[in-house]
Amino acid sequence: MRHQRDELCKKGIPTGCILPAEEMTAEERQAIVNGKVSVVLTSPEAVLSLHGEWRALMRRESFRRHICLLAFDEAHCICNWGEDFRPIYSHVAELRSILSSVPVLVMSATLPTNVRDSVFKTLHLDPSEVTSVCKNPDRPNIFLNRANPVKKDKESLHEIEEPQWLLDYINELRREGCKARKAIIYCRYINTTSRLWGYIMHALQDKAWSEPGSKKPAHRLVDMFHSSLDINSQARILRGFSGDGVLRCVVSTIAFGMGIDIADIRLVYHWGLSKSAYEYWQEVGRCSRDGKPGEATLFLLPARGHVQVDVDFREMMTECEKENKCIRQCILDNLWLPEMGPKPIPRSTLCAAHCGKECLCERCTCCIECKSSCPCVRTSDEDSGL
Ligand SMILES: [Zn+2]
Ligand SMILES: [Zn+2]
Ligand SMILES: [Zn+2]
Repeated sequence: MRHQRDELCKKGIPTGCILPAEEMTAEERQAIVNGKVSVVLTSPEAVLSLHGEWRALMRRESFRRHICLLAFDEAHCICNWGEDFRPIYSHVAELRSILSSVPVLVMSATLPTNVRDSVFKTLHLDPSEVTSVCKNPDRPNIFLNRANPVKKDKESLHEIEEPQWLLDYINELRREGCKARKAIIYCRYINTTSRLWGYIMHALQDKAWSEPGSKKPAHRLVDMFHSSLDINSQARILRGFSGDGVLRCVVSTIAFGMGIDIADIRLVYHWGLSKSAYEYWQEVGRCSRDGKPGEATLFLLPARGHVQVDVDFREMMTECEKENKCIRQCILDNLWLPEMGPKPIPRSTLCAAHCGKECLCERCTCCIECKSSCPCVRTSDEDSGL
């Protein structure tokens, strides 16, 4: 949130943040109370805290009449976070009742019909009074890859073989240092995050830092991010990963990425399945925001009992593999809204023959399932004797 505030201020839009009381300075508080900012960013927890000052401030007519828009960004969170993770999300409608005459804007990159219905219900929005603006949610520049774990006999990283994509990427880091492609590796748990980070740091040895002999956190090529990390480390990671920072890879829980606009992250890996197809698409969407080619690899770990994963999403991925169905098409089908018009047709153009080292035909740039049908891929497999 602070990062977004700073970005808006840089663009000349005076912006403030309502944060938990202990994280705000008196000046920051005064700027908002005195109407010195045009945009206020906040979380439901901070603004709706029970005996909080902000609730009272918003009830004051002199303050309220200056508010011209109530915007909910990343609105899909209202549905899935309200259930267990951050229960206050299911009470955000209270803001609507305090600011009853203020227009509401609801935004999300992924809002399938059932999620949209649930968001409208939570916010007490009457669908017949809502104007929808919908866009095709495809990210055509991102190649969708899948990798399956191979069981190992002896105890190691999750009792599975180190996946090839990980070994390849570690080699890239070793070879290219701070010129390697930027990557996020998403994990489902904080303990997996730290184990995987530790594994990569260990594999890189001295090459894990951009400066020879330095062991400073600011010189790390690989870092880890999760919600329990202190604010200073979070800020360091954001700085290192944006602009010309040296940080190349962030191993993270899904806490990293929302609202972060870094254009040149080329690789997004998933260490295990996301909770649902639309959450997966959110996370994939952090890849190559500048439109250049990027790659998302889903490492399909088996389900672990206590984690909620949408059964349909796991089935969808299994079906794609078994029946050689396009992953992109299946995900878009899941996210498609009637307002988006006719569904896009699958990419069909194949190259006619073995065209060279890296095939760029429509199907080879779509997903692993589409790619497997291209003559290029078959020819190179035969060449290597597979
Ligand atoms: Zn495909
Ligand atoms: Zn080809
Ligand atoms: Zn091809």
